[in-house]
Amino acid sequence: MTLRGVRGRGVAVVKAETGGRGVNTRRTGMEKAAIVTGAARGIGAGVARRLAADGFAVAALDLEEAVGKPVVGQIEAAGGRAIAIGADVVDEAAVEAAVARVAEELGPPLVLVNNAGIIRDNLLFKMSSGDWDAVMNVHLRGAFLMSRAVQGHMTRAGWGRIVNLSSTSALGNRGQANYSAAKAGLQGFTKTLAIELGRFGVTVNAIAPGFIETAMTAATAARIGVDFAEFTKAAAAEIPVGRTGTPEDIAHVVAFFASEGAGFVSGQVLYVAGGPRA
Ligand code: NAD
Repeated sequence: MTLRGVRGRGVAVVKAETGGRGVNTRRTGMEKAAIVTGAARGIGAGVARRLAADGFAVAALDLEEAVGKPVVGQIEAAGGRAIAIGADVVDEAAVEAAVARVAEELGPPLVLVNNAGIIRDNLLFKMSSGDWDAVMNVHLRGAFLMSRAVQGHMTRAGWGRIVNLSSTSALGNRGQANYSAAKAGLQGFTKTLAIELGRFGVTVNAIAPGFIETAMTAATAARIGVDFAEFTKAAAAEIPVGRTGTPEDIAHVVAFFASEGAGFVSGQVLYVAGGPRA
């Protein structure tokens, strides 16, 4: 698929190469729609801004519509197109309604970034079943419900991109039995969807970030009683490139996976951690 003239709000010419079936479609005057879950802040907000700058019409989905408004305002101020949507990714009916609204207002969602996430850290012997379930639900059930809801739009278009946010914690991290299991689970989910959807021109990949400065890592610092600046400094000292990551570092990789040129990259997990190890 080639997409021209979108950045300048000109006429977009979309030519879909439908998984080798040779069927081309042309749409004019419309950007491809992208949904970013957990887009109100942190990595999701960075991804939403970047995809909008790259010419996508972005649905910034988060728990409440109101919390997504500021990022929508930033995108619009930069000349992009976006809407805020309130939905809990764990809620099946809310997910279906959200995806229907995106299709209605922005066109069929052809890019999905499963970014919404939570942490409920504790050592195994202190971890409640509620904290286990909450983490499994947001990451795994959420990504499942969102992907299932959008896949029909993608397969009908013969083109799609799903990007799941895993984590270096998938390799194991003290105090995160729930989170690391969910993030490892997302890697298996990614590979299976890549196999199932590839023939429809849909790629599915995962990004496994290391330490990214967001409210999530700030919450971890607070939980262990360390000042966030100190926490970040200590983390940076262990990272080969000598710094911690930013939402923009992850957004750049999402932009790559969402791009036309990445159509032969699928089922991969890219660790984005400033070095070879977590
Ligand atoms: P964050 O806590 O700053 O933002 C997460 C967003 O997800 C919030 O806006 C929150 O409201 C939203 N959200 C949570 N539950 C939701 C639900 N049920 N439905 C809809 N929205 C929901 O987190 P972040 O640091 O930006 O992390 C984003 C993603 O990246 C998460 O999946 C996280 O696990 C992953 N990740 C983060 C880091 C890091 O260092 N920050 C590292 C590896 C992976």
